[in-house]
Amino acid sequence: MRPEILFPLFAEVSSLKGVGPRNAPLLEKVAGPIVRDLLLLAPTSLIFRERATAATAVEGRIQTFEVTVVQHQRSPKPGAPYKVRATDATGFVHLIYFKVFGDHLERKLPVGSRWIVSGRVERFGSEVQIPHPDHLVPADKGEEPPSVEPVYPATAGLTSRQVRRFVLQALEAAPDLPEWQDEAWLKREGWASWRASLARLHAPEAEPDISPVSSARRRLAYDELLAHQLALGRRRSKRRAVPAPVIAPGKASAALAAALPFALTGAQSRALAEIRSDLTSGRRMSRLLHGDVGSGKTVVALSAMVDVASAGFQATLMAPTEILARQHFERLKPLWEAAGLAGVLLSGRDKGSGRRDKLERLADGRTAIAVGTHALFQAEVRFRDLALAVMDEQHRFGVSERQRLQDKGESVHVLALSATPIPRTLELTQFGDLEVSKLDEKPPGRKPVATRAIPTARIGDVVARLRQVLASGAQAYWICPLVAESELSDLAAAEERARDLTAHLGDEVGLVHGQMSGPEKDAVMTAFAEGRLKLLVATTVVEVGVDVPNATIMVIEHAERFGLAQLHQLRGRVGRGAAESACILLYDGQLSETARARLDVLRRTEDGFEIAETDWALRGGGDLLGLKQSGFPDYRLADPVAHRDLLFAAADDARLCLARDPKFESDRGRALRILCQLYDWRPERTDAPA
Ligand code: ADP
Ligand code: MG
Repeated sequence: MRPEILFPLFAEVSSLKGVGPRNAPLLEKVAGPIVRDLLLLAPTSLIFRERATAATAVEGRIQTFEVTVVQHQRSPKPGAPYKVRATDATGFVHLIYFKVFGDHLERKLPVGSRWIVSGRVERFGSEVQIPHPDHLVPADKGEEPPSVEPVYPATAGLTSRQVRRFVLQALEAAPDLPEWQDEAWLKREGWASWRASLARLHAPEAEPDISPVSSARRRLAYDELLAHQLALGRRRSKRRAVPAPVIAPGKASAALAAALPFALTGAQSRALAEIRSDLTSGRRMSRLLHGDVGSGKTVVALSAMVDVASAGFQATLMAPTEILARQHFERLKPLWEAAGLAGVLLSGRDKGSGRRDKLERLADGRTAIAVGTHALFQAEVRFRDLALAVMDEQHRFGVSERQRLQDKGESVHVLALSATPIPRTLELTQFGDLEVSKLDEKPPGRKPVATRAIPTARIGDVVARLRQVLASGAQAYWICPLVAESELSDLAAAEERARDLTAHLGDEVGLVHGQMSGPEKDAVMTAFAEGRLKLLVATTVVEVGVDVPNATIMVIEHAERFGLAQLHQLRGRVGRGAAESACILLYDGQLSETARARLDVLRRTEDGFEIAETDWALRGGGDLLGLKQSGFPDYRLADPVAHRDLLFAAADDARLCLARDPKFESDRGRALRILCQLYDWRPERTDAPA
């Protein structure tokens, strides 16, 4: 229920004076449907206006003159402007109008009348013109336009000035609200109250006032970030409140640990302990296991799956592509079999009796583990007792898919795996409602991948070097990205590249692309994995989510067109074996300074998170891997780059508030309730595993 104090803010914009059926939709377009939306609409720039005379007028400036009308000139040429000749003591100031019909200007501005007029100055020699003055009042009224004026987002049919008028009305309607910020924090930052900050926001006097780091903006941004973090935190606790089977490690878990060919890294052990504490809690787990490519997420997930199977329940591992599902199945099968468990691979390609048999085994519980693709979602797939769903590469799945999988069991624990290195900023805003375990340490013995950026013009050298390396027995990837407007022309380019490379390197060159059927792709991938193909040319990133330790070279064409995080993930495909590996970034043309700096980061470090942070900073926020589409919150006043520090503070603050006063019963709690309602974060705004 919305408290009464917020009613004026949630009134429709049409409740404002001067807003009717014509302009309400326009206001809704620039700000939103309710009064609150106008309040939170920040000015984007400032107009400075100064007094001038015909003699001192400056081209391009917005200036104000006091003039007397001397003549009206309507040009006989159609389309030519209408000119009102006017003077001050120093010269002519002409008011120019386009598309003038009838004689209303002559009636409004009779010869001899005196006016205060203002607008953007155009100067032709000694002649000053003001096309369509934005301010025109009789001089005897003495009304000067404001010397500083904020500019608001506008749209056709609704000027910035009109928007401003409605914003000021909204401001008048805004009540004082109880303070929801911590008093000490408020004092330390030197922030004014919510209402006073809004008043400042809408009365800027100089450039610093409209900057995102102005005190008023920061206060209001913090409000917004805190509201969002509280909403995420409440979702987190709500999700956890669902009861779920208690699962403790059993005999099979111990057998798996003994069968692993290596010891878990510290980070893997920590993550597994966190997962186990969720699984034994009796409440549903929603956890993200976040770790760079090659950090060893799979074995952690497998351990959790084996715990579940060991306790008599079932677990699934879902991969976004057939190839990945197959690879997981083949790698993991010996391990779960060593633990005495049975598992199946379920893919879209299973047909007939083979498929029926697998489905029966899952339905009656003979099979504890299912690895698969989207095929796991299908309605005919039933489990006797599904208790854990693991999603590999979680960013490739949509919310509804996760939901469907979760719906297959009473109350299914969910573990999402992600290698998308994202800055902490994004992690907090995207996954703030998930528990996160991080693998920040790689398994021992990894060799750094020597990374070089080379202009495409030198492709001949690269191919020559490749020939040597392949002759010595190694394998390599060659990535042709999706760059052209159409997939078909990209495909043609990749096919030509493959033909080219075959001509230079012999027929141990394979091509895999998005247009191939599943079995066709598999055949090529298998040939590459078994070493029958030496060089794999691939059009898309998807097809390369594989692990071939003997592949030591990765060539990426048009590297400048990839996101850094993508390049980093591609590079993660090499450097998996004992040999030295290399990544060659081919770029076209002249690299811009930023592009060079970006590629430089890749050369310098292999820490995916550091790379993501730098990319984020270099792009000034920008869109990383299309995360915006996948549900990056659309803040109004908060800016994840400019207000990064505030985001971290808000996340801590929210956790603390929710831990101390989960029901919002204290004084501050009651005020926070108002804050949350004021921002009204709808849950579907963020994309995270359900
Ligand atoms: P990702 O996190 O990218 O999914 P994987 O789970 O595929 O990484 O692991 C990458 C490689 O590292 C695999 O070959 C795996 O067997 C190996 N690996 C995982 N954990 C360890 C470990 N603790 N010690 C040695 N090798 C490991
Ligand atoms: Mg993986």
